[in-house]
Amino acid sequence: MEVAYDRGRMTKRRISRREAITVGLMGAGAAATGLAGTHDALSGAGRGVRAVVVGAGAFGGWTALALRRAGAEVTLVDAWGAGNARASSGGESRLIRASYGPRRIYSAMVARALEIWKEYEARWDDRLLFPIGMLRMSSGASEYATAAPPILRELGLRVEEFDGAELARRFPQINPEGLTYAVLEHDAGYLLARRGCQRVLEEFEARGGAFVRARASAGGIRGGRMAEIGLADGRTVEADLFVFACGPWLGELFPEFDPPLVQPTRQEVFYFGPPAGRADLTEEKFPTWIEGPFYGVPATRFRGFKIADDRRGEPFDPTSGDRTPSAKGAREARVYMEHRFPGMRCAPLLEARVCQYEQSADGNLIVDTHPEASNVWIAGGGSGHGYKLGASLGEMLAGQALGEQEKEPFFRLARLTAA
Ligand SMILES: Cc1cc2nc3c(=O)[nH]c(=O)nc-3n(C[C@H](O)[C@H](O)[C@H](O)COP(=O)(O)OP(=O)(O)OC[C@H]3O[C@@H](n4cnc5c(N)ncnc54)[C@H](O)[C@@H]3O)c2cc1C
Repeated sequence: MEVAYDRGRMTKRRISRREAITVGLMGAGAAATGLAGTHDALSGAGRGVRAVVVGAGAFGGWTALALRRAGAEVTLVDAWGAGNARASSGGESRLIRASYGPRRIYSAMVARALEIWKEYEARWDDRLLFPIGMLRMSSGASEYATAAPPILRELGLRVEEFDGAELARRFPQINPEGLTYAVLEHDAGYLLARRGCQRVLEEFEARGGAFVRARASAGGIRGGRMAEIGLADGRTVEADLFVFACGPWLGELFPEFDPPLVQPTRQEVFYFGPPAGRADLTEEKFPTWIEGPFYGVPATRFRGFKIADDRRGEPFDPTSGDRTPSAKGAREARVYMEHRFPGMRCAPLLEARVCQYEQSADGNLIVDTHPEASNVWIAGGGSGHGYKLGASLGEMLAGQALGEQEKEPFFRLARLTAA
C-alpha cells in the first residue's frame, strides 16, 4: 500500500515510488515477512508525522528507531531508561532462535531480526549478537519440535536434526540419559539484552530522535483519536501517532481491557560458575540450549552458566515487586543442571536475578491499534520470548503505522477480547 500520513491530521497521501519500500533489497527474512531489506528502505514514509513512543525496551526502542529512520519526528519516553533493571529487556542476555514449532511468522521475524542485528553491528562496530547456536533436546520427536526445521531451511537458516546417540557423540558434556531427539540451529544464539536496548537508544538519538526520561500516562481518546500523553511532571506531549510499548506495565496504562493486555509473572534466572579451564561449558564450545521448561546460555565472557525455568511464576508487580531470588528456584535449577551437565556438579551460584514475563492471554504478541483510537498502537505481550523479535517488530509496526503494510492478523487484539 503506497500511502503515508500527513502531519497533524494523519490523513493518507500517496507517496512516490522512491519513498516506497525497496522490494529489491529484501533478504530472506524480509521476503518472508514483507519487511524492508535495510532500515534505510523505509526512508521518507514518516516525513511530516509526529510520533511518541512510550517504553524504550526491545519493542519501543526498535519501533522508535524505525519510525525515525522513516523520517518521522519521534519522541521516545521511558520512566527509568532503555533496558533498565526493572524492564523485561533489562537482563544480561536473551536467546535468539528461529524454531517456533509450526509458527512460521515468528521464524520469519527472527530471520529478519538476525539481518537487522547484523546490519547494526556492522554500523556500530560492536558485538551484541552471539550466534553460537541453539540446541533443543527432548525425549522423543514431538510435533512441535519437528515442525520447525523445514520452515527454517525454507528461510535459509541452517539447522540439523539428530538422535540421542549423535547428541552424546557431539556433546560429551551433556548427560544424554532419556534424550532421543535434538535440533541444532546454527544461526541462533544469544543477544546482549540491556546493552542492545542502550545501543538502539544511542542510534535513535544520533539520528535526531528525542528521548525523555519520565513516567507517561495515556491521554484521553476523543473522536477516535488521542491527541497527547501526560508526563508525571505535568507536561504533555502532543503527536499524530502514539505507540505504547510498556512491556509488563501495559495493563496499568490501559486497564479497560478484559482480559488484561498482559499479566506480569515472576521469573528467576541463575548463573553458576563452571570449573576453571572447562571451555566445553562455555560459549567457545557449547551452544545455547532448551530442554522442556529449562533453557540457558553457557558461560560467556560476561556471565556464568545461565539457567532459567520458563514455567510461569506468580503474578508480579514490575514496579515494586520483591526481586530477592528464592532458595527453591536455585535448588530446582541446580538439580536439573547437575543431572544434565555433570561437569557443573557443585558449581557455585555466582548471581541470580528476578525478572518478569509480560504474558498475553495466549502467549502471542500484541501489535495492533487501540479499538477506540486509530492513531494509538499497542505493542507487547512478548510472553517470555519477545526480545529476539524486537528488531523486526519495530520495523513491522513502523511500516503498519505509516500505512506501508497491512496489520498482521495473528497479532491483533480482537483474538484476545473476543468472547
Ligand atoms: C527472565 C526472562 C528471560 C527471557 N528470555 C528471553 C529469551 O531468551 N529470548 C527472548 O526473545 N525473550 C526472552 N524474554 C522475553 C523478553 O525479554 C521480553 O518479551 C521483551 O524484552 C519485552 O520487551 P518490551 O519492550 O515489550 O518490554 P520492556 O523491556 O519491559 O520495556 C518496557 C519499557 O517501558 C517503560 N515504561 C513502562 N511504563 C511506562 C510509563 N508509564 N511511562 C514511561 N515508560 C514506561 C519501562 O521502563 C520499560 O523500559 C525473557 C524475559 C525474562 C523476564
